[in-house]
Amino acid sequence: MPGCPRCGDDVDRRFRFCPWCGEPQRRKIVEFFRAHPRDRGRALRVSRYLGDEPHVRFSVWDEAGVAQAAVSLEDDEAARLADFLVATRRPAGVARLLARRLRLPS
Ligand SMILES: [Zn+2]
Repeated sequence: MPGCPRCGDDVDRRFRFCPWCGEPQRRKIVEFFRAHPRDRGRALRVSRYLGDEPHVRFSVWDEAGVAQAAVSLEDDEAARLADFLVATRRPAGVARLLARRLRLPS
């Protein structure tokens, strides 16, 4: 069992973060997302890079396993994207977002 690079305690390989001190155990964390049926045959891969230059990379993959396009966002912009997705998940959130953009009282 490998040791955590920060605290030295044993950490099972399946952990992404040290359960004792929170240190990331991987420099890149990847998650795949299924496409909407209109984009059947494609998938979105989101990779969070945790090293000295943290960023989030989004790439579109086809059925052959080839990346067709990619873009990287800095952490702050990726957090703004996450906020946008959460805020617009419900009609009330969409209304609040539009009101804020139009500077209307919500
Ligand atoms: Zn640790």
